[in-house]
Amino acid sequence: MTTAFIYTDTYLDYDYGPTHPLQVIRLKLTYDLIKAYGLLDLPSVQFVSTVKAEEKDLASYHSEEYLNILRQADKGHLSGNAFSYGLGPGDNPIFRGLYSWSLLTTGATLQAVDFVAEGKGEIAFNIAGGLHHAMRARASGFCYINDPVIGIMKLVKSGKRVAYIDIDAHHGDGVQKAFYETNQVLTISLHETGYTLFPGTGFEHEIGKGEGEGYSVNLPFPPGTDDEVFSWAFEEVVPELVQAFKPDVVVTQLGVDTFYNDPLTNLHLSISGYERVLRKMKDFAPRWVALGGGGYNISNVARAWTLAWAVMNGVELNEKLPESFLKEAVKIGFEGRDLKGDLRPPLSNQNKESQIEMERVIRYIKGTVLPKIKGKSCSPP
Ligand SMILES: [Zn+2]
Repeated sequence: MTTAFIYTDTYLDYDYGPTHPLQVIRLKLTYDLIKAYGLLDLPSVQFVSTVKAEEKDLASYHSEEYLNILRQADKGHLSGNAFSYGLGPGDNPIFRGLYSWSLLTTGATLQAVDFVAEGKGEIAFNIAGGLHHAMRARASGFCYINDPVIGIMKLVKSGKRVAYIDIDAHHGDGVQKAFYETNQVLTISLHETGYTLFPGTGFEHEIGKGEGEGYSVNLPFPPGTDDEVFSWAFEEVVPELVQAFKPDVVVTQLGVDTFYNDPLTNLHLSISGYERVLRKMKDFAPRWVALGGGGYNISNVARAWTLAWAVMNGVELNEKLPESFLKEAVKIGFEGRDLKGDLRPPLSNQNKESQIEMERVIRYIKGTVLPKIKGKSCSPP
């Protein structure tokens, strides 16, 4: 098996601002930890340096007037009617180079897509991607350009069937919206319920429209959901859905903001539940484009994506984090000394409630959504 890790230190040239939750340094920390564990020296691994996407790639999904606004905002100050495109102080700040940043993060996703689609290898990981909230003509939820959509569109154009699985704490609304009416792409999002978390969508009855009916799947989890309920729900529906859909490529958004100590969300996972889900993905995703996503505790992000990369490469990691990594990482706010052991959430008292709610959601998906996919995949071409 051959895998690709896509990265560049150039990411560090960009900054959402000192008080913004999305800290670009988390990418560097992840890269450093992966490197310190020797996970870029494996014979099966190719390191790919990120190259910017071309402007025409972005135009395959985003509107020309929105892209013009982003190009203007690249200078770092507000211009014209940027507010009406979701830009401005708050979630989607205007910072110097934001358009170049978007070209880079999207470029890395396209490099991952090409690597897998052209058969150079089976798995590629872009930790800077997974910006799943961006809409066709609007920035949203820290996302300016929707790299998962642009990557998936490229795969679809070459005739591939794509299953997109999103385990970020926030609903993958931008990706769902882009493919809501097609049966070429199956989108599955597991997230904290829209009743308590941005963007307020992703309920189980959002199942797609027209040709796409049955090809959007949502598992909204109550706040407080822990490893056990989350990974159980994943195992109950995701492998079966993917098996019924028979994708050529699986694209995943691997947000780490589901953890109990993430500052923005209310789920209650630990790195162990995350690992369980990753191992399942590896089982059913022989060709896999993996993208990053949310994650606002930088120590969680570095650990979880390092572990994810180890799972992708079939390597078991030493529980003690390498000293060479810790020496530098503590200076930029990294906490803890172990890979998994010191990241244990307190017991959640909402678990029983989550279990009951998710049993209802799973019954709905098995009764309503799954038969649609199964029925269609059995019909003659
Ligand atoms: Zn998120």
